[in-house]
Amino acid sequence: MRPALKKNIAILGSTGSIGTQTLDVIRQHPDLFAAEILTGHANADLLIQQALEFMPNAVVVTDATKYDEVRTALDPYDIKVYAGEDSLEQIVESDEIHMVVTAIVGFAGLRSTLNAIRHKKNIALANKETLVVAGDIIMKNAREAGVTIFPVDSEHSAIYQCLAGEFHNPIEKIILTASGGPFRGRTLESLAHITKEEALQHPNWVMGNKITIDSASMMNKGLEVIEARWLFNLKPEQIEVIIHPQSIIHSMVQFGDGSIKAQMGLPDMRVPIAYALGYPHRLQTTFPRFDFAACATFTFEAPDTKIFRNLALAFEALKQGGNMPCIINAANEVAVDAFLHDKIGFLEIADVIEICMQTSTFIKTPSLDDYFHSNSETRILCTEIIKKRQ
Ligand code: NAD
Ligand code: MG
Repeated sequence: MRPALKKNIAILGSTGSIGTQTLDVIRQHPDLFAAEILTGHANADLLIQQALEFMPNAVVVTDATKYDEVRTALDPYDIKVYAGEDSLEQIVESDEIHMVVTAIVGFAGLRSTLNAIRHKKNIALANKETLVVAGDIIMKNAREAGVTIFPVDSEHSAIYQCLAGEFHNPIEKIILTASGGPFRGRTLESLAHITKEEALQHPNWVMGNKITIDSASMMNKGLEVIEARWLFNLKPEQIEVIIHPQSIIHSMVQFGDGSIKAQMGLPDMRVPIAYALGYPHRLQTTFPRFDFAACATFTFEAPDTKIFRNLALAFEALKQGGNMPCIINAANEVAVDAFLHDKIGFLEIADVIEICMQTSTFIKTPSLDDYFHSNSETRILCTEIIKKRQ
């Protein structure tokens, strides 16, 4: 059965990796979805091109210096153009929108996600950092507003899919799979001098720069552990991480009877995006299919947290709770940016995050304002720590 109404979608961060893949799903199902709102930060050319193809109701360009360029290009059309962060936050309030895809990277997505939830929009959540930073507040607001948060992250989508029909059966544990990234099996010494070009080569996924570095350092899996804690209301000890280099099993759930359910498929983000957009229907797609006969083996190994310290730091932040995940996220955003600008080495990412965890102000039960202050404090602190090391 098909849903009766077309879903109007707002894509926050439509010019990024998740954003463009979401548009690909919409492109294949123009009968089911319309791109109602598109937003981008600095890539005005792509935002204009997307607007001309999808003819949304409105676009927002958050980098205000690009406003004139976008407005001039879209002037002949019936498309509203807005600029700046406040517009991004407000645009999600539109009555015309049924679902908001949060595809902005980092803390910058928090305000707009929260405002969309408060205005009762269902969320397809890619922007995992918002849950890492303020998972308690996001989930509480979602409960109060009666909205559903559909995970887009492939691991969390896998768990969501495994839980279909299991409402009354408690989760014993979840097993998050990780590819291990480009540096799996490397020694600590060999990682000291790797370049950003090497770290940006992910074996299985093509993604934005920040998440690609997070995948190489395994901070991505650490952030996903915290994301899973909030999405599925789990205790830290119910979350296990296992390396599965083939990236075919996207994650698993183990139940009280010892049964384990897995969700599988080729690594293609359009699959979890399509699941979130189409729920409860599975969309018919022409994306490539997995061939068991062509894949010789599935392998699994425990992650090495002595080499990939970020994963251990994320578990530690989750156990400490309070604003510690916010601190770890802010430090990581600054450290990854510094690594991408050749200011620190790859292994120093974990070093500076650890120092920030020890020196930022800890708050046991933070308010939303506390999260914003904590994010700013850690960013300043982390920038100073990095400067001193140069
Ligand atoms: P990306 O860098 O490719 O795209 C980021 C988008 O956010 C762009 O549209 C950019 O214009 C916008 N943006 C950047 N800074 C902004 C700011 N300050 N204000 C407003 N908009 C801003 O990133 P991505 O790989 O698409 O990842 C997006 C999110 O999805 C991240 O949170 C990431 O962890 C998550 N995610 C991505 C993938 C993937 O395969 N790419 C998989 C799972 C989860
Ligand atoms: Mg993921």
